Amino acid sequence: MLKYYNYDIVFQEIPNEVTLAVNITNCPNRCKGCHSPHLQNDIGEELNEARIISLMDKYASAITCFCFMGGDADPQQVAILANFIRFHYHDVKIAWYSGCTKLPERFDIKSFHYVKLGGYVEALGNLKREISNQHLFQIQQNGGMKDISYLFKVL
Ligand code: SF4
Repeated sequence: MLKYYNYDIVFQEIPNEVTLAVNITNCPNRCKGCHSPHLQNDIGEELNEARIISLMDKYASAITCFCFMGGDADPQQVAILANFIRFHYHDVKIAWYSGCTKLPERFDIKSFHYVKLGGYVEALGNLKREISNQHLFQIQQNGGMKDISYLFKVL
């Protein structure tokens, strides 16, 4: 099960998209210098199909992208909900911000348009830094992953 703490419409997490970013809790990654330590706690409301419908009723016409911010404790549920969005909201792209360095085993990447990989390492910084360990990938139709992290450096 996934739970979320809050959400916001943001403009920089996914370049060239207006994104509804949903902050998922119970993060298992424990990055040193975590920007949002409260997201490591098992708190918040369940994020399920009904909640997504309710969010989309409000925001679907105002956004171009829905982003799961976290969810590494239950990535298969992230994929299930991504499939749900893809099936019901054709005009909205789907993104996932994972704090892991690689995708989980048997993960259905084709549910997504964008995936960010990499935890937060203080010395390396976030996606905007040249030396960051984090990368944003655009998912190609054949399942390939194109690194588009360079787009952050020119924002
Ligand atoms: S992945 Fe994000 S929320 Fe989770 S511990 Fe790392 S910085 Fe914090």
